Amino acid sequence: MAQELDHGRTNVTHGSRIDAYVDRYAARAAGMVASEIRALFAVASRPEVVSLAGGMPYVNALPLDLVSELVADLVTSRGSVALQYGSGQGDPALREQICEVMRMEGIEANADDVVVTVGSQQALDLITRIFIDPGDVVLAEGPSYVGALGTFSAYQAKVVHIAMDDQGLIPESLAQTIYALQAAGNRIKFLYTIPNFQNPAGVTMNEVRRRQVLEICRRAGVLVVEDNPYGLLGFDGEPMRALRADDSEGVVYLGSFSKTLAPGFRVGWALAPHAIRDKLVLAMESAVLSHSSFTQLAVGQYLATQPWREQIKSFRELYRERRDALLGALDVLMPPGCTWTRPAGGFFVWMTLPEGLNSKAILPRAVAERVAFVPGTGFYSDGGGARNMRLSFCYPEPDRIKEGVRRLAGVIEQELRL
Ligand code: PMP
Repeated sequence: MAQELDHGRTNVTHGSRIDAYVDRYAARAAGMVASEIRALFAVASRPEVVSLAGGMPYVNALPLDLVSELVADLVTSRGSVALQYGSGQGDPALREQICEVMRMEGIEANADDVVVTVGSQQALDLITRIFIDPGDVVLAEGPSYVGALGTFSAYQAKVVHIAMDDQGLIPESLAQTIYALQAAGNRIKFLYTIPNFQNPAGVTMNEVRRRQVLEICRRAGVLVVEDNPYGLLGFDGEPMRALRADDSEGVVYLGSFSKTLAPGFRVGWALAPHAIRDKLVLAMESAVLSHSSFTQLAVGQYLATQPWREQIKSFRELYRERRDALLGALDVLMPPGCTWTRPAGGFFVWMTLPEGLNSKAILPRAVAERVAFVPGTGFYSDGGGARNMRLSFCYPEPDRIKEGVRRLAGVIEQELRL
């Protein structure tokens, strides 16, 4: 980084860009840094690269002509509402429909406790904004969703990771960590968990652990933030019961239509205990006045007129085929010493490289061989994940996935020979 003084401004160069305002930002802006995934997008989206990096849902599988009719019709039939400001809490009819969606995971909720947000990402931002003072602790699985870690860091939270295995978060680690942190005088504001088909690890918390986690957090006075964008995208059997279904006072549940419909609508939600809900609405109004009436009504109309449960089933089949393609190719092609998770839903597989290899160091060679992944370090706040990578199976067609794994296996084999 080069620095120079110019007419009283401090210019700091980041690569080729100069930031003249570097000494004027609020302290919290220091925690706002581009994620490794973001930097990757430009490279990974080149057509010759098989991208196992991004987490983009395969929206082309939607009945696009029907969606287009529905959106056009909205302007003519409900323009005076769709093109107008709405309430800070979100469209009442949509909030009722959201309760129906959540019922699939055992949640009995009142629409009055739902706040519609700009994707669940905004719900994460609002929750963090109303709870976190600089230095407060957020507990999160290690690894955890990069977008949530970015938000926590932007509000100057201290993120402490809790170990997980192939059955999800480990309750004993959670209890010990809470005990040690509280004994040392830390303020733990919430546990952030993704119980189903976790991003990035692909694992699901089992039923016994769900009850234990709720009990531990209830006793310790720690709020649970349950982030569940993938819960309806399980490949076997019925959706699991949400944590929120067994605790309406100690859990804030975050949901999203990004993966079961389309992220372009940017419609997600938070279901929160009443007092928290009030704060969320005020925070929502201060951020955006109100969500887009247009996209809320479009999603509402989609749910009211289209067979959305069938659509989710067909998404499941599509992603199951891609998951099978990825796992099958990994089983056959990866050199000994590599291990990976076996997700029962969602979008992601988490791979661990043999001792001595570093996923970030391998990435440039992988991209030169026309395959991209996300290095594991972006999913930890504490430098963990150096031997890990996230492989996503949501977007490329099965044959491309297999080709991507073939290229990646070649790169790893070469690294092992070095
Ligand atoms: N949480 C998790 C775990 C995610 O994977 C994502 C998207 N990748 C989000 C939240 C945000 O999703 P959206 O804002 O599109 O609802």
